[in-house]
Order: sequence, then structure tokens, then C-alpha cells
Amino acid sequence: MRFLHARLARHTLGALGALIVASPHVARAQLRQLPQQPRLAVEPRQPSGGSLVRLTIDRLGRGDSVVSVTGQMAGEPLHFRGVPGGRLQALGAIPVGVSDSVVARVELQRQSGAVDTVRAVLRYPHQPPPAPAAKARGRAKNARRLSVDKRFTQRTDSAADARVEHENELARQVGHRAQDTPQLWTLPFLRPRASRVTSRFGSGRLFNGRVSSNHLGIDYRGAVGEPIYAANRGVVALVAEFFLAGNVVYIDHGDGLVTAYFHMSRPEVAVGDTVERGQEIGLVGSTGRVTGPHLHWSARFGALTIDPADLLALGSPFVTAGVH
Ligand SMILES: [Zn+2]
Repeated sequence: MRFLHARLARHTLGALGALIVASPHVARAQLRQLPQQPRLAVEPRQPSGGSLVRLTIDRLGRGDSVVSVTGQMAGEPLHFRGVPGGRLQALGAIPVGVSDSVVARVELQRQSGAVDTVRAVLRYPHQPPPAPAAKARGRAKNARRLSVDKRFTQRTDSAADARVEHENELARQVGHRAQDTPQLWTLPFLRPRASRVTSRFGSGRLFNGRVSSNHLGIDYRGAVGEPIYAANRGVVALVAEFFLAGNVVYIDHGDGLVTAYFHMSRPEVAVGDTVERGQEIGLVGSTGRVTGPHLHWSARFGALTIDPADLLALGSPFVTAGVH
């Protein structure tokens, strides 16, 4: 892990796709008493939109101990925990379609009443604006050609638009509430199916020759009626039939993390159920906007959509028990 200071970052500006500028601001009265100022670092160094990131604060100093930590990044609260070596760590996320910059800001309350504020700014100077769908027609690299019913691409129906927006808001609210749920898992996240991945997060897609959207989840192969498993322990927060996603199940895992399972033929859980890691929660189907039966698996940190693959890679200190 590397920590970048503002002075160093000035020399590297423009050389990196995303820059980290850590600039600790310490109350003037504290400067003489603290031999070192706290530092905030973000991993990975150049996270792309939809990435889950690890924030680390070190150099907390001795004597005037930290009694509380509050912070936020991209509008989401950060949940710091102590880790060996006298450091603090939390998860954060980079918004999909990020442009300009993402700021993390953390306040450390000391026993004496003093407050240290540390910031990290991730810059995205070279992010191109998203191309209009019409211009991108037929030119999207590696885009997948799919053919679906025209009612899904000709979105002139304002009632359908309103329905989709309402359903998006329901999903955002599940993520928002997950920030207030305590962490409900201790073991690593699992794949929700053992089958082959047919589409990864972020790959461009064509619907009827038109670039519709980035793919904001992972697709797993499956036939109608095959089982879908909970990626980790949590509480079922939403079971519904959505216009685009079909029959959905959303699981709140706590600490801001949510996983969702789309296009089910049949959900097998109800809102409020506590589900265990690896428990069957529903069956593969082809409900909603699909070309055939499969599982679309998505994830959120708070209201922000993230790549579910980042959950599978989560390690210590967020996962506190060994692999079983
Ligand atoms: Zn999908």
C-alpha cells in the first residue's frame, strides 16, 4: 500500500488516470503535540466506477486516543474499524459513471476533544463523457448484440418509465437502509451459482442495435428452475416483480452492503427472513428484460451500484472468520 501526499501528487498530476491526494488538516493547536499527522489512503490506487475500495487511516499518534471516527465518501457513510498496527479501515465505493473527482472525508475525534480531519481526493481527469446512444450505434467495441421485445427498448411509454424509476428508487432505499444495519456476516462472500459467468460487470451491450446501458452486474448461466444461493448471511429486504429485472430478491448484509438476484422464476424467501450464506433463495428464470433464462447478480454499497466480483474478493478485516 502506498500513501501519497499533496506534494508528491503535484509531481504526478496528469500521469495517472485517477490520483489520490491525501491532505490532512489538523487543528492548529494540535500541530506541536502530534509528531505525525494521520494519513488516509485508498486501495486500489486507480479504482474505476463501480469499484469497492478499502480506506486506511494510519499515523493516529499516541497519547490522545481516538474516541470516535465519522466519515463519508461519494455521499455514503464510512464504517471504520480498528485493525492490527493501530490503523483504521473501512469500505467505500466509486460511483458508476464517475467524472471529475471522488472525495473521502473523515473526522477523528480525540479524547481531549480535538478533531483531526483527513481527506482523500481521487481525480478522474481523463474520463470521457458517455457517448449518446445514437452515435454509438454499431460502433461499440465488444458490445454484445441482443434482441429483445421492442417494448423494452422503445421506452415511449411514460407509465413504464415511471414504473422503472419507482423500482430504481425502491432498490436505492434498500441500499440506503443497509448503511444502518450492523454487519451480519463473518465469512467470505460466495458466488450465487456455480455455473459459468456469461457476462461480467461493465461490458457494453447492444439492445436491438442500440447501446442501452453498461452491464451493472454479473450474469450466471442457468436453466429455469435451477437453484440460486445467497452470497452471504443477511436479511431479505425486498421481494418484488420489477419491469426490467423481473422477479427480484434483495438481501441486506449490513455495513452498507446489499446483493440482488434478478429474473427469478420463483423467489423462495420473504421480506424479513434471515438467510444464511449459501442458502437457496429462489430459482433461475427469464422474467423481466431477458433473452433467455439466467441469473443476473448485482450488488450495492449504500445507494451506489458496485461490481459483485469485488465482494468475492473481500478479505480481512471485513471478513473475520476463515474460509469454510
Ligand atoms: Zn445481467
